[in-house]
Amino acid sequence: AKKKGENTFSVYEENLEKEIKNSLSLKEKLANLLKEKKFVLYGQPYFSTSNKEISGIEVLLRIRENEKVESIATVIDFLENSGLILKIEDFLFEEIKKIGTKTKIPLSINLSAKSFLSSEIFSKLAELRRALNYPFICEITERLFLEREALEIIKKIKELDIKIAIDDFGTGYSSLFYIENLPIDIIKIDYSFIRRMLDEPKALAIVQTIIDLAKKLGIKTVAEGVENEEQFRILRLLMCDFVQGYYLSEPVPIEDLIKDR
Ligand code: C2E
Ligand code: CA
Ligand code: CA
Ligand code: CA
Repeated sequence: AKKKGENTFSVYEENLEKEIKNSLSLKEKLANLLKEKKFVLYGQPYFSTSNKEISGIEVLLRIRENEKVESIATVIDFLENSGLILKIEDFLFEEIKKIGTKTKIPLSINLSAKSFLSSEIFSKLAELRRALNYPFICEITERLFLEREALEIIKKIKELDIKIAIDDFGTGYSSLFYIENLPIDIIKIDYSFIRRMLDEPKALAIVQTIIDLAKKLGIKTVAEGVENEEQFRILRLLMCDFVQGYYLSEPVPIEDLIKDR
């Protein structure tokens, strides 16, 4: 007969096994989706605040399965931790090479911290830069790196003649370190400040201060998540350079954006 302790252990073991199986099958499922080309590129433009012209397009990955198109937001952590993100990035880069030759609008791509675990990323970025004949932009989040790490990584990217945007600006701990010490081209002011700025004077003050500071440092600003006319008008008054969000355009299949441009 089993002792009580062993029983408890085996239940625990069973659960663990289930968990491992589930995550294995999620990995298989996502790997299959990639093989079957179910990952698709969407694009969301950002616009010049002064004339509402498209100034750039951010590439956003989506999963298309059975007529449904879904964000990768819920699986991004899993993709990173399982290492799948590297394969997906190879796919992404190949697709961008095809698209990038058809448009002169600068493209922005999101990179994750995991991308930089191997220095291969720099040769991949260099290759992408050679394939496109104009600069593109890498969006990285300040939360992802230690300060010293970030310094080295960003310097190397800049050496490839690629621009850097800090994504979700203001949500990490090193915002001021970043803009003082790193060759940043663009700041993307996080959606959380934009969303609150009409109701909360403090959020508005922060947005205004980020824009003014960026201007003094020669860095361009993009406001994320601009959903209505009122937000747009304030951002124009504050002289934010670019706006992005549902007010002017949701993300759409990227082919729709680069047709005839
Ligand atoms: P992010 O880079 O901060 O992307 C902005 C997200 O905000 C996108 O969600 C976009 O659809 C959404 N958005 C845009 N305008 C508005 C608005 O006006 N209101 C609201 N509520 N939302 C808006 P999405 O596409 O679900 O992407 C989520 C996150 O997944 C991205 O956040 C990014 O971190 C990550 N991601 C997406 N594509 C890639 C990729 O190719 N590589 C990597 N590493 N990460 C990616
Ligand atoms: Ca982004
Ligand atoms: Ca963002
Ligand atoms: Ca985000």
